[in-house]
Amino acid sequence: MALNLYNTLTRRKELFEPLEPGIVRMYTCGPTVYNYAHIGNLRTYIFSDILRRALEYEGYDVLHVMNVTDVGHLTSDADEGEDKMEKGAREAGKDVWEIARFYEDAFWRDLELLNIEKPKVVCRATEHIPEMIALIQRLIEQGYAYETTQAVYFDISKFPRYTEFTRQPLEQKVIGAREEVQEDPDKKHPADFALWFKAVGRFKNHIMRWDSPWGVGFPGWHIECSAMAMKYLGETLDIHTGGEDHIWVHHPNEIAQSEAATGKQFVRFWMHGAFLVVGNLDGNDEDKRMGKSEGNFITLQTLIDKGYNPLAYRYACLMAHYRQKLRFTWDSIEAAAAGYSSLQQFAARALQIGGNEPPWVAAYRDRFRAAIEDDLNMPQAMATVSEMTREAETRREYGVLNVLYDFDRVLGLKLRESAEAATSIDLSIQTLIKEREEARKARNWARADEIRNQLAEQGIVLEDTPSGTLWRRTR
Ligand code: AMP
Ligand code: ZN
Repeated sequence: MALNLYNTLTRRKELFEPLEPGIVRMYTCGPTVYNYAHIGNLRTYIFSDILRRALEYEGYDVLHVMNVTDVGHLTSDADEGEDKMEKGAREAGKDVWEIARFYEDAFWRDLELLNIEKPKVVCRATEHIPEMIALIQRLIEQGYAYETTQAVYFDISKFPRYTEFTRQPLEQKVIGAREEVQEDPDKKHPADFALWFKAVGRFKNHIMRWDSPWGVGFPGWHIECSAMAMKYLGETLDIHTGGEDHIWVHHPNEIAQSEAATGKQFVRFWMHGAFLVVGNLDGNDEDKRMGKSEGNFITLQTLIDKGYNPLAYRYACLMAHYRQKLRFTWDSIEAAAAGYSSLQQFAARALQIGGNEPPWVAAYRDRFRAAIEDDLNMPQAMATVSEMTREAETRREYGVLNVLYDFDRVLGLKLRESAEAATSIDLSIQTLIKEREEARKARNWARADEIRNQLAEQGIVLEDTPSGTLWRRTR
């Protein structure tokens, strides 16, 4: 076992081994549930799902935890700081709690459609307020946080390693969207970030609110991940994942809060998925991230409505390395759908023809594992799959299905289910296929064609091959 993963902390690939042999403690920043996830967000969750599957393929047990950000957090300047959850709720005419649950359910449905396994522990921010308060208290007691009339802030001057993760001088620090925008004259440094917001001033009417030692208010966004990750995984995690935007604000803040509180390393491997981008809608060719606030987002439902299998999108994601930006175009999803469909057809054919495992597949197994172990090189893994299927076709040796199913433990393309569904057929249809074979033998072409047409009407396509007549459901 030699799994190498790119660690954002060290900016290089490193040999991965968990702290405790055999068990990987992994945390993924979950969704903000004030709107549908877009397929960019979903790319990031496909990445963490592939990572979890690869770890399992390597023989580890993965304790995977994901949060749900159901406490509203601040928007960018452009939104004038209105709470995203409340804005979403107001637009939908629903109560914030209802809307959070509605979009959370939609999110789980998207994950299921993409064959992304639900993490073992899912934790809602609204259900962990006491843990967040306790962590903030600990930071105050240790001198890492201070209170003003408006909020409790983390004091970055007390944590000199603050810029180590971004490797960006503090003056150039990107104060991204979600960073609080309110003017607070008592804030010591512009990059100090809020741990707790008091329900005063602009937040006077904030709907989600809780009591705290600093008055009624609500937690900052960053503290939620530190508090919940440490609750379920302990003070040092093996792996923490998220989208690449989190490298600049959210994750350095998580590190500062957690390491200041515990004095221990918070995360050993930080892994970030690159963005899904789309061509600029303004007419020039510049790529832009797909984003909720960019207004250019496509949901999984949009793809389904256009007739795409959600797993064709998963296939598209597998064709790009997770650290490379992936450009979404309608042509690219079309190509992925065609690629996925031919892989499904191969699996269905192999299931019907069968055969012993030929010796030449061993080399493909090795190549597949090597690709996975090289920082999840899925394009390489997919190339291995397609070369293997091509070789099987050329040699007409189809006993490779178990190998393909084994690879699918990482790919997650449901190849077994799809092959079984495509070839499952009831007895009356089997009888017709037999009758057609008899008719062909007797050179009764008219009857053979009649049966073929009859089956086609039922969505069953026949293919006459040297190994006999194969069938495949098309719907
Ligand atoms: P949010 O629901 O906005 O908190 O985002 C959920 C996840 O999606 C985070 O890990 C983000 O980093 C990630 N994300 C946001 N936009 C994109 C994008 N265009 N491509 C890939 N991941 C994204
Ligand atoms: Zn997070």
